[in-house]
Amino acid sequence: MATSLEPGMRYAEVSVNSPAARRRTFSYAVPPGLAVSTGQAVLVPFGERELQGIVMELSPLPAVEDVREIAAVITPEPVISPERLTLARWLSDNYLCPLFDAVALMLPPGFERRAVTFVSVSRPDIDVLSLDEDQRRVIEVVGDDRVALGRVASAFGKRKAVSVVGQLVRQGILSRSYELGPVRVKPKSELYIGLTGQDDIPKLSPKQAALFEFLKSQPGPVAWAAARRQTGLDKAAANALAARGLAAFDERPVRREPINYDNIIPSPPLTLTPHQQAAFSAIKESLDGRSSAFLLHGVTGSGKTEVYLQALAEVVRRGKRGIVLVPEIALTPQTIERFAARFPRRVAVLHSGLTLGERYDEWHHIAAGECDVVIGSRSALFAPQPDLGLVVIDEEHEWTYKQDTSPRYHARDAAVKLAGLSGVALVLGSATPDIESYYKARQGEYRLLTLPERVVPGPGAKLPPVEVVDMREELKAGNRSIFSRAMTEAINEAVAAREQVILFLNRRGGATFIQCRGCGFVLRCRRCEVPLAHHIYGDVLTCHQCGRRYPVPDTCPNCGGRQIKYFGAGTQKLEQEAGYTFPRARRLRWDSDATAGRRSHEAILKKFRGGEADILIGTQMVAKGLDIPAVTLVGVVSADTSLNLPDFRAGERTFQLLSQVAGRAGRGPAGGRVIIQTYSPDHYAIRAAAAHDYAGFYAQEIAFRRELRNPPFTGLARLVYVNPNEAAGRREAERMKDVLTSQIAARGVAGIDIVGPAPAFIPRRRGRYRWQLVLRGGGLAAFLAPVDLPRGWTVDIDPVGLVQ
Ligand code: ADP
Ligand code: ZN
Repeated sequence: MATSLEPGMRYAEVSVNSPAARRRTFSYAVPPGLAVSTGQAVLVPFGERELQGIVMELSPLPAVEDVREIAAVITPEPVISPERLTLARWLSDNYLCPLFDAVALMLPPGFERRAVTFVSVSRPDIDVLSLDEDQRRVIEVVGDDRVALGRVASAFGKRKAVSVVGQLVRQGILSRSYELGPVRVKPKSELYIGLTGQDDIPKLSPKQAALFEFLKSQPGPVAWAAARRQTGLDKAAANALAARGLAAFDERPVRREPINYDNIIPSPPLTLTPHQQAAFSAIKESLDGRSSAFLLHGVTGSGKTEVYLQALAEVVRRGKRGIVLVPEIALTPQTIERFAARFPRRVAVLHSGLTLGERYDEWHHIAAGECDVVIGSRSALFAPQPDLGLVVIDEEHEWTYKQDTSPRYHARDAAVKLAGLSGVALVLGSATPDIESYYKARQGEYRLLTLPERVVPGPGAKLPPVEVVDMREELKAGNRSIFSRAMTEAINEAVAAREQVILFLNRRGGATFIQCRGCGFVLRCRRCEVPLAHHIYGDVLTCHQCGRRYPVPDTCPNCGGRQIKYFGAGTQKLEQEAGYTFPRARRLRWDSDATAGRRSHEAILKKFRGGEADILIGTQMVAKGLDIPAVTLVGVVSADTSLNLPDFRAGERTFQLLSQVAGRAGRGPAGGRVIIQTYSPDHYAIRAAAAHDYAGFYAQEIAFRRELRNPPFTGLARLVYVNPNEAAGRREAERMKDVLTSQIAARGVAGIDIVGPAPAFIPRRRGRYRWQLVLRGGGLAAFLAPVDLPRGWTVDIDPVGLVQ
């Protein structure tokens, strides 16, 4: 990974950790005698301070005339490989994010450290009588030493210390210097104890003797925690042995391992079906260092994971390693276990639920080449996996692969770039590929591999039949319940047969909005203006935008009327209704309100798997990846929630969700069925999902995209401006539109349209108004790169949704 210092490379281009550095690097001279290579972390002077930076490039000439010198190197070895530096540059150029934000994705966890300021007296000969009282006292505190500014601050208060030190520095009496603060994460170590091998055993107390005998029975030093557990003795006995020179303690580094291998049984590879074999062979043939990308389109339950596992094993056989990305929500212990069971103790896990210390340990183990497979969410793509041979992105259509804060990158596109840069194979897998991915596969950019059949419950098993229920007909027949007659009957049958049911509703809470019957007033969040949802547990109104809670009013805040009605239903309401309609069924609810943290997800799933409930009620979480053979019925309570969003991807989103949910049914020998309730039974997305017809859906959707000139037939960029003042927001958005319009003319750019300004779909969030401009056309990042966007603007290149 090291690029050795080439002679003549006297200058370095450094990405500096400062918001002021934005998307550019800064030139520094390499001081004589200092060995600096690309990817190395250095300390550089930046304005008044010294900051961290990463060397992006070395060159024989500086980019500007007047350059300062690199102050120090922080790491003796490069921390980022050359391909990943190029990837960081690409992320910054392509998503218009600060360069250091992109670089930071690839740094070890806990790496960013604060610089600590030190002061010392630079003119000891100064006549202290010429100074005022405060200045004299500061000089006294500093004395002949180099002291941290914090020490001066603790004597005078922070503001005064900073101001007086500033005066003295300007007069040349004090000078400042900087050092990086302590590392926040350290390798974890554990206390070990072992015998010293001394022959001369004095008389020991019974406890000391017991411990001595225990240690003698061990092959070598043991972890003190384990010794204590096994002997039941306390530290005093151990300390006594150590004091008498019979035993010694030492600290040994240990790995904080997020995977618990206690119950994981190694799993041998399965015999592949002919379709799996064909897909595997195609991937295998490409593992020769050329970059190649595959789209693995396999229906739910077709055994995509087995293809990934065998491809990874092949990569490992060739002395290389892999990275597997899965959506955060699907990164469950079951998923991790499938990989850990195939590659015992050779799997690293990276996700947001890990402590900083765990992430730190995983990162360093990966960098040391100790992990054949890294599995993680989005950002695991940037893990320092050496000798990378394969990247897998499971459920590649998931929107969560796009980060919604800076850097706003899409992991799939970044993976395509990384694969190209490092000559690795890329496998994108999905039962419902993203329309744009499928289009690329049709255009030959990706090779299409297909698994058209299920392997569960047996080879060639049919996908479950889907019945679409028209809820308008239910109303006409006088059924006002949340459950159609067909759904009620099917649930009763399944419960009676001791089978399990999943009910899906893509909305949490109780009622989705609350309206006064007298005046029509809808209760809204005061800061975000979205309607407030009612939460049954706790009886509060909640803003699903900002999370703010409001008490339930007795009377209408607008007209004082007492007739307040609750409309719509979320999962809490659904659970309540299910309780009335199916009183004998045992219910479980799974949504983000019911689960605070990873462990409670597990607890709910374990109960359901263990047969402790008949009906699992949930939001999106129940749609993703669950493989529970006892589930014979999947009910979609309303297919319309995602269908009616004003976004050109609403149809695609609905199709994907329905197909994924439907895929949870019929994975066991008892088979299964799906019921979808909707007010739009003729919508092409619902019809195609019901028929398990991806090809039909794609044909219709791509025609619409072409006709309306939406991606993949154009690029999109979304610019949002926030301001607490509505009129000021509008003015700035209009000004920006004028700037962009004149840029289009001045630079002779063709084919870029600007839509807006218009209020964003969520027009106000956390008290700030949001105005939006949407750009359509090609090369949008390059077009926007030179445009100066003042504070308050954010740019999202290739946004996954316009309704945010
Ligand atoms: P997908 O990811 O395509 O939805 P999975 O990889 O979860 O499908 O596979 C579904 C089930 O089929 C899993 O339990 C898996 O162990 C099993 N399976 C996959 N391939 C085979 C095979 N070749 N032979 C037997 N069982 C298989
Ligand atoms: Zn709000």
